[in-house]
Amino acid sequence: MKKVIVGQCSSYDVAKVEEFLHRGFQALDFTMRDARVLLKPNLLSSKPPEKAVTTHPVIIQALGKYLRDRGCEVYVGDSPGYESTEKVLNKSGIMDIVRENGLKIAPFEQRVIKRWNGISPYQEFILGEDPASYDVIINVPKFKTHAMMGLTLGVKNTFGFIPSKEKARWHLKAGRDRLLFASLLIDIHNAVRPSITMLDGISGMDKDGPTSGRVRQFGLLAMSKDAYVLDDAIERLIGLSAPLPIGLIAKEHGLIGEYETIAFGTPAITDFIMSNTMDTDGRFPDFVKKILRKVFVKKPKLQADLCKGCGVCAEACPAHVITLPEGLPLFDHRTCIHCYCCQEMCPEGAIKV
Ligand code: SF4
Ligand code: SF4
Repeated sequence: MKKVIVGQCSSYDVAKVEEFLHRGFQALDFTMRDARVLLKPNLLSSKPPEKAVTTHPVIIQALGKYLRDRGCEVYVGDSPGYESTEKVLNKSGIMDIVRENGLKIAPFEQRVIKRWNGISPYQEFILGEDPASYDVIINVPKFKTHAMMGLTLGVKNTFGFIPSKEKARWHLKAGRDRLLFASLLIDIHNAVRPSITMLDGISGMDKDGPTSGRVRQFGLLAMSKDAYVLDDAIERLIGLSAPLPIGLIAKEHGLIGEYETIAFGTPAITDFIMSNTMDTDGRFPDFVKKILRKVFVKKPKLQADLCKGCGVCAEACPAHVITLPEGLPLFDHRTCIHCYCCQEMCPEGAIKV
């Protein structure tokens, strides 16, 4: 039976994270030696660790040490939202860990064509890094809310294999259909096929994640060979009553079966607040969805006092519906696809939903 390991860890104390890692790998019966390993953290944007936007450097430090002690060659990389991998690694504190521990950088700047016949209507994906060039991929997401998908956990984290500019193209293809976007994320995840997913939830984010939500100290670490069951276990832990888009599609396709949760102390997360967006893409007929979207779907709004007029939101908008006529963004809500990339990428947290 599949297993999810959930642990309680109150701080980024490297010895405690290492202890969780050792116990977790043992419980999962996962061993490796002399392997070429890729660590894929969440490197969304250049923020310091205390902002809880990126995977914390101590998690990478503990994983790096564990793997180097076993003779592995360890690479770290991701495709950030709009900045270079190097810039985000520097700001996140992970670059120091890379240098101090003999790790290497995977810049995610390739264009690898991956053909995958999965559950979405799409069969060809361009990836920034070739999963086949590693013996082992360890997926290291950050526990955060996400305006479009509800949460960003293990399955969503592998969307980072898509190069920055390609991400917008996929958002545009899926348009307003969150379930279609979820099926696309599942195909990308299955094409990448990480061997292990380890969730960094010691600190994380609720409310308006994944960039400018409320930073929380959840004290949570989790690990599994299977990101679908790990994500499901976390959704249950925070008390969600219904599955989010990825979980809904994953269940429909038999990707979440029975699994065992092994707890090394369980963090009590009692007051988790989801993103202020409403999923109107449940199993309703199309005409009902259209009405619900018009009435309820949250639109991106500018908080002008926070805006620096940098234009990142306009560049990130897949539908090109943001202009800056007087140096401040203006949204054309008629053609907005509600992907919330603008809110996710704004470095100042000036876009609210
Ligand atoms: S809303 Fe954010 S991303 Fe857009 S121009 Fe203002 S500061 Fe830049
Ligand atoms: S305005 Fe924002 S939410 Fe609307 S399509 Fe552009 S990036 Fe997506």
